[in-house]
Amino acid sequence: MSHAAPKMPQPLNLIGGSWVPAKSGKTIDVVSPSDGETIASLADSGPDDIDAAVAAARKAYEGDWGRLTAVERGRLLMKLGTLITRDAEELALIESLDNGKPIGQARADMVAAARYFEFYGSAADKVHGEVVPFMSGFDVKVVREPHGVTGHIIPWNYPAQMFGRTLAPALAMGNATVIKPAEEACLTTLRIAALAEEAGFPAGAINLVTGYGHVAGAALSKHRGIDFISFTGSPEVGVMIQTEAAKNFIGCTLELGGKSPQIVFADADLDRALPVVANAIVQNGGQTCSAGSRLLVERSIWDDVTGRLKAHFEKLVAAPAMENGSLGPLISARQKKRVETFLAEASAPVIARGKLADGLPEGGFYVAPALLGPVDPKSALGQDEVFGPVLAAMPFDDEADAIAIANDTDYGLAAGVWTRDGDRQQRVAKAMRCGQVFINGYGAGGGIELPFGGVRKSGHGREKGFEALLEFSTIKTIVHNHG
Ligand code: NAD
Repeated sequence: MSHAAPKMPQPLNLIGGSWVPAKSGKTIDVVSPSDGETIASLADSGPDDIDAAVAAARKAYEGDWGRLTAVERGRLLMKLGTLITRDAEELALIESLDNGKPIGQARADMVAAARYFEFYGSAADKVHGEVVPFMSGFDVKVVREPHGVTGHIIPWNYPAQMFGRTLAPALAMGNATVIKPAEEACLTTLRIAALAEEAGFPAGAINLVTGYGHVAGAALSKHRGIDFISFTGSPEVGVMIQTEAAKNFIGCTLELGGKSPQIVFADADLDRALPVVANAIVQNGGQTCSAGSRLLVERSIWDDVTGRLKAHFEKLVAAPAMENGSLGPLISARQKKRVETFLAEASAPVIARGKLADGLPEGGFYVAPALLGPVDPKSALGQDEVFGPVLAAMPFDDEADAIAIANDTDYGLAAGVWTRDGDRQQRVAKAMRCGQVFINGYGAGGGIELPFGGVRKSGHGREKGFEALLEFSTIKTIVHNHG
């Protein structure tokens, strides 16, 4: 199927309602992971651009944006959701070219991106305060207020979805925002920011500054003019963000990935479970924070499960994004090398590899999916986030063993439990040290309503659901002594 070439955004930042180049005048080339060709460029911004964006956000917060009622903010968010849906096909094409994900996945991402604005748009006027009974002669109100100016740093794996995930709740609460998307892939975020202008957001409510993480991202995280910061990306950068937030005495949320287990007990419905298990690591080329990257299999069904998955993996094909294969290329040469290094250094046997499509463009960053096992739970492949299509399978002996292995990593984002035993479902779900558990299923990419986030090295704070509104707000207690 051929696709009309989408209109690529210009290398400009959105600051205070104007599209402007980086003050340095420099740009960054954006390459398509499918073939390595340059498809666009981004403003290569620095601290001066971040300064301007934070000042514009402050002005909006204290001005036109801050004066809107919750109902008015909600309407703007819902309008933006409608505009994303209107332009979904073109946005999906851009996402697919920019990130390398199969076009079918990119389309699903746009549905989710629109949903973030719809969900938080309709929730904006539903955050209410409390009246607390107190001493006679006093009235006490507890109200939720926005933080003020919020900073947002997002990764390249789901640019449009991440834009909605982090900005929609912040805006719904009334914060004015500055976002620094990832230099590897962020073209759809520029397009959606332009749609926000069309929707009628006041100038400065959304400021978008592109650039390198260690330059523009670092400047945003250190900026004394922000009141809160939300970060999604690697634990290494997460630590820096939290350190800067501490120096700034502000709050932050961190979403830092995982090494999430999918536990398959002997009584599981394997016909239902195994396609889901495979998809949980292959979707988006495994470049998903909540990817189900460890497969824990009860020892008595090890041969059956690995045999069936072998057949499944051998049919998987990595192909250019527009060909809509089982997976696309990885985001970059660096990410490809990272995954290949994990595979080369793993001591576990390779059970199966998928295929690379015939005639792949030379400049693309393709890796065939891999199933390895038995993997030592203590090894690098058993512990570290690969962020690629690599499933580490490991046997377990009984429920206690499964729980111990599942919890024995520094991460704690998501977990899957496959069993027909209702009591065991509940026991194991309760025992998982993580933020989201799926029973007889895996993944809730489209579940905007469902709170999401991790513990320990997976980060802290919650995105999605009503919880995100609470993160992007602060409580004020107003005590009125009327004598
Ligand atoms: P990263 O943490 O370097 O990048 C994420 C975002 O942070 C980007 O916008 C980047 O520009 C910005 N950033 C980078 N350095 C910064 C700094 N010093 N100060 C402020 N912002 C900075 O992640 P990466 O290098 O793209 O990927 C490396 C690994 O991180 C991956 O292999 C994967 O394990 C993990 N990761 C996790 C997620 C997730 O969804 N949790 C997303 C992307 C990557």
